[in-house]
Amino acid sequence: MIVGVPKEIFPAERRVALIPASVPALKKAGCAVVVEAGAGYLAGYADAAYEEKGAALAASRDEVFARADAVFQLLGVGANHATGRLDLPRFRPGQAALGFQRALGNPESLQELAATGATVFAIEMLPRITRAQTMDALSSMSTVAGYSAVLLGASALPKMFPMMMTAAGTISPARVLIVGVGVSGLQAIATARRIGAVVSAYDVRPAVKEQVQSLGARFVELPLETAEAEDQGGYARAQDEAFYRRQRELMGKAVSESDVVITTANVPGRKAPVLITADMVAAMNPGSVIVDLAAERGGNCELTRTGETVMAHGVTIIGRVNVPGMVPFHASQMYSSNITAFFTHLVKDGRLQLDLQDEITRETLVAQGGEVTHPGVREALGLAAAAPGDRSA
Ligand code: NAD
Repeated sequence: MIVGVPKEIFPAERRVALIPASVPALKKAGCAVVVEAGAGYLAGYADAAYEEKGAALAASRDEVFARADAVFQLLGVGANHATGRLDLPRFRPGQAALGFQRALGNPESLQELAATGATVFAIEMLPRITRAQTMDALSSMSTVAGYSAVLLGASALPKMFPMMMTAAGTISPARVLIVGVGVSGLQAIATARRIGAVVSAYDVRPAVKEQVQSLGARFVELPLETAEAEDQGGYARAQDEAFYRRQRELMGKAVSESDVVITTANVPGRKAPVLITADMVAAMNPGSVIVDLAAERGGNCELTRTGETVMAHGVTIIGRVNVPGMVPFHASQMYSSNITAFFTHLVKDGRLQLDLQDEITRETLVAQGGEVTHPGVREALGLAAAAPGDRSA
């Protein structure tokens, strides 16, 4: 079984799906590894380092796809809206495709990929169960995004983060507010605290309060009814517009008192809720910064422009996308470790052996035999639910 690692082709992407340190684990599982020359270069991994660990180099992208039984990508076809489709002619029936696919967010692209006959795994669909923690690429990338968001905010702010007692007077610490405390929000709190900011945070899920406090941040108490805010999977439930209106009213003061607001609020399968209106931005001090990590899903701030940094009412609003790509060395290291753990879970004796009784395999397998097979994605496409037999082909 040959694992192929092509270079990532999303514009300005510097990450790579596999790093040299993961090659031995794949070899131990009975796989050979072929890497496109230069694939790891921008993340800090030289071709020679892959060769030292026992991988072979391929001179071209076409060669990687032609030789590979399984293609490892970070941004698969559907997750790369800019150039992902260029790979469609390179996939072939029975070849495994692993990576972020945006299977639910962009099911039409998945359908195109399915039509190539490839066996497609969407790593973002991995169930968040203890057994799958080592494979949880979504958490890895959220961790990097939370860290990077703080650096983006700190660089754009015309103030320093830490308190300083200097001969020229006292510098007061920056006040940072984190809205949405999932994986990226928790990392943003920890990072902002390390740099010396005074941090507060809010999430609709009441369970988060203790986590916020244990990181040394203040939990913003809002008199909102949130008892039903969390679903069984630990995710936020969608609320009605009246709830969000009330939340915006109550959050106004906390937002206006902050130097940097980092928003990460998401509801699975939905557009991100708008939690900061234009009026709330206008009430912030000039020079303040909003980093909207939900920009890719429409944004938590009304004025966010996806992929852009804009200035409104003297406030810098950063809607950067693909934020984990800012730290390609470690983002690649984490992803590589996740995808290797995931793939070696699927492989037995050097062959893909798909056990659909296994939740990890069943939930991540999204297309096989020319068809989209995952019931959730089929529903998103308006297709009839597949007969159970279809998924065990
Ligand atoms: P996410 O990206 O879906 O959302 C980010 C955060 O936004 C969530 O905490 C959510 O509650 C919050 N949010 C939604 N609407 C909001 C609103 N109106 N106002 C304020 N905040 C709002 O979340 P995620 O980072 O993927 O994490 C989701 C859950 O999964 C968490 O409970 C996390 O601890 C859990 N998790 C578990 C594992 C595991 O292995 N068991 C791994 C990773 C994450």
